Amino acid sequence: MIIGVPKEIKEQEDRVALTPAGADALVRAGHKVLVEKNAGMGVGFTDEEYSELGAEILPEASMVWNQADMIMKVKEPLKSEYTYFREGLIIFTYLHLAAAEELTKALMEAGTVAIAYETVENPDRSLPLLSPMSEVAGRMAVQEGSIYLEKTRGGKGLLVDGVPGVPPAHIVVVGAGNVGTGAIRRAIGLGARVTVLDINTDRLRYLNEVFMGRIETLYSNNYNLTNAVKSADLVVGAVLIPGAKAPKLVTEEMVKLMEPGSVLVDVAIDQGGCIETTHPTTHADPIFMKHDVVHYAVANIPGAVPKTSTLALTNATLPYAIRIANKGWKQALKDEMPLRKGANILEGKLVYKAVADAFDLPY
Ligand code: NAD
Repeated sequence: MIIGVPKEIKEQEDRVALTPAGADALVRAGHKVLVEKNAGMGVGFTDEEYSELGAEILPEASMVWNQADMIMKVKEPLKSEYTYFREGLIIFTYLHLAAAEELTKALMEAGTVAIAYETVENPDRSLPLLSPMSEVAGRMAVQEGSIYLEKTRGGKGLLVDGVPGVPPAHIVVVGAGNVGTGAIRRAIGLGARVTVLDINTDRLRYLNEVFMGRIETLYSNNYNLTNAVKSADLVVGAVLIPGAKAPKLVTEEMVKLMEPGSVLVDVAIDQGGCIETTHPTTHADPIFMKHDVVHYAVANIPGAVPKTSTLALTNATLPYAIRIANKGWKQALKDEMPLRKGANILEGKLVYKAVADAFDLPY
C-alpha cells in the first residue's frame, strides 16, 4: 500500500502523523511511504531522516494526497484539503465528525473511507487512539488554566498552591476520564484543592483510591455542578459521550455565578464543548472573556507540546496503520472490532450512528 503523510496545515499544528521510526516500520513491512517536504520539521524530524529509512519526500501536498492509498494525518482535513478527497481513498486521522457537518458531507460525497482515531474502541470501551492525546490535554489544561489565573493574563490574580496561611486555588474537573485524570494529576501536583465530578461512580471510586483522599469526588448532576462551578477558580470541562456532540453541562447561568477572573478550560471543545459559553479558540489567540470569566477553548491543546504529543500519538496509531496497510481496510475491519468502531464513513456511506444522529443523515 502507498501511505501518504501530508504536513499539517491547521494553525500552530506542528505534530506529524508518522515518525521516522514509523516510516521505517511501514517500509520494512513492504509498503511505500510518501512524506510531504518538511512534514516533521515542527518536531525536529528532518526530511533526510525519513528518506534515509526509505520514505520518499515529495515537495507538494497534492502529490502526497493524489498518489497515496491511505492518508495518515493528525487533525481533521481542512477545507482546502477537501479537493483531494476521492473514491476509495482511506483517511486515517482525528475527524471529530459529530461536530463537523461540512467535512462529513464532503467525505461522503467523494466516496472516501474515513477511519477516525477518536472512535477506535476496545471491547472494554476504552479509546486507545484518543487516550494518549487526552493524557496530554488534561495535564496541559491545568498548566494553561493556571497561567490565566494570573492578573496580567486576565485572571483574578491567584497562585494555585497558595502560600502558608493562604488557601490554594479550587480546581473543578468535570468528567473523570483520560483528560480528567491528567488534569487531576497536574492539579494535585500544583497543590490545588481539587473537586472531580462524573456520572460514573466506579470511576470516582477508583480515583478516590488512586489519589488517596487528595481529591473530593462528586456525582455529576445539575445541582452539584452548579455549586462546584460557583466556588471554582478554574474549571476543566472534560466530558465525553463517545462519538457524539458534548452535552452543555456547564450552563451560562453557572458561568455568571463565578467570581470575576475565574478561568474555564473547555477541553471537550473538539466535540462541540461542554461549557455553554465557549467557542473554539486557537493557540495564536487562545482566550476570550465572557461574564468577566477567562475562557480557554483551544481545539488542539496537545499541539502546544508537539514533540511529546507526536511520540505519544504515533506509539498508539502505528500498529493499526500497519495492519490496515498489510490487510487492506476491508479485511482489517473484518478482523478487528476496535478498527470497525473507528470506521465513520465507508466508500461514502455513513456508518457511525452518533454522527448520523448529529446531522439527521441516513445511517
Ligand atoms: P473519556 O471517555 O476518557 O472521559 C469522559 C468522561 O466523561 C467519562 O468518565 C464519562 O463518564 C464522563 N461523563 C459523561 N457524561 C458526564 C456527565 N454528564 N457529567 C460528568 N461526567 C460525564 O474521554 P477523554 O479522553 O477524557 O476526553 C474528554 C474530551 O476531551 C473529549 O471530548 C475529547 O475529544 C476531548 N479532547 C480534547 C482535546 C483538545 O485538544 N481540546 C484533546 C484530547 C481530548
